[in-house]
Amino acid sequence: MRIVLADISGGDGFVSKDTVAGGYGSRLRPFSRVTRVIAALKRGFHAMPSVHLAYAAALARRAGHEVVASSGELIDGDVAIVLSSLVDHRRETQWATAMRARGVRVGFIGLAAQNLPELFADAADFIVRGEPESALMRVMAGEPLSGLVASPQIDDLDALPFPFWEPLAGNRRRWRVPFAGRPVGGSLPVLASRSCPEFCTYCPHRIQSGYRTRSVVNILDELSYLHDTRGPLHIVFRDPLFSNDRDRVLALCDGIRSRGLTHTFECETRLDRLDEELLVAMRSAGLRAMSFGVEAVSEATLKKVGRRPIPEAHQRAILARCRALGIVTAAFYVIGFMSDTRESINATIDYSVELGSTVAQFKVLTPYPGTPLFTQMKPAIVERDWERFDGFTPTFTHPALTADELRRLLGNAYTRFYIRPSFLTNYLRISRPALHRVVRSLDQRVERRHARREALVAREATW
Ligand code: SF4
Repeated sequence: MRIVLADISGGDGFVSKDTVAGGYGSRLRPFSRVTRVIAALKRGFHAMPSVHLAYAAALARRAGHEVVASSGELIDGDVAIVLSSLVDHRRETQWATAMRARGVRVGFIGLAAQNLPELFADAADFIVRGEPESALMRVMAGEPLSGLVASPQIDDLDALPFPFWEPLAGNRRRWRVPFAGRPVGGSLPVLASRSCPEFCTYCPHRIQSGYRTRSVVNILDELSYLHDTRGPLHIVFRDPLFSNDRDRVLALCDGIRSRGLTHTFECETRLDRLDEELLVAMRSAGLRAMSFGVEAVSEATLKKVGRRPIPEAHQRAILARCRALGIVTAAFYVIGFMSDTRESINATIDYSVELGSTVAQFKVLTPYPGTPLFTQMKPAIVERDWERFDGFTPTFTHPALTADELRRLLGNAYTRFYIRPSFLTNYLRISRPALHRVVRSLDQRVERRHARREALVAREATW
């Protein structure tokens, strides 16, 4: 058979699918000067091929099929597998409909098609519910699937073949950029585990399947295979909680060093799953960047959404150690929790500046289908266009803030974080204490200007 794997490129703004928001995806449509720059930078640094489609490619190759990829072109084939998302479901279904008109059977995989099959049903021969591999093995064996197809999770992740990248990624060039944790181009995602053992009620990463890990040897074998076939790469571990098991990560780092693998890598984790010794080991094994959720500064707010707060002192200590080790840090924040007020959101923005991660991402709380939060918030959800559940658009009636206010606070967060002199010195890793004093006073001046402008905009909005 000829298998077409489709990761449809996402139109305007910066679109991420695959493992972002658990597979629902996100779309940053710039809404300010700062977010325009961020969207452009993300296009360069963050565009990556789909690891889920690379697993599909591996299963197809193992079964002896030909594999081709499409990002929106119509291609002849026997079966097409489409990576679904919420934020781009119309383009995905349009493509699928056109492919079916050419006689190709089309199936959708991913959390969006699983939880909102009605969005995809008219354009699909089959929709996979669950992690796709079990169902895809049946497709590759020649079974003509149809309708909703249950796909039980595979407990032994080591039993899967390594992702096959050739049809999806080719041999992409990469350019190292000074001070950036990730090169432009050339990064590949790896999944060392799936799902997450935590219980944050807003999180779509943990709702498709249970938490499972691959063995250290199996991960090392994949890294060795990539090293042998493609040379040293920048690996992006897309596990939602990479360093959950400290001993396992230490063993992985030992293995990377003893095998002489010279990849660099980055990961996403919780700060309470890191300590100094672990960071040093990860750095010497190639860690160059790390992302983590802070979400909000208020412990009460975090507890209300099932997130275990992490002591501020620990957060600051880990960030200081990362700075000293030259590890780029990206902190994630969410504004618009139901208990948030203008003051609490401003406190979170203050904290983001003070914590001083290298970069920060702010999103508006989004009640994703299938999460406990979605069920709780259902009566307050007013947005009917699922494509607007993109992480940056208010989709519900907030008890204390209008949608415009939430959007304005989101814009303020980006402006206040990025438009200040200390962002630049932090990014450039300038650590001279004398310079810091000057930068701090310049920061205060910029802060005062932001505050004046915000007050003016808020006053105009109430007139
Ligand atoms: S720790 Fe992160 S990935 Fe895990 S449930 Fe919470 S938000 Fe999701």
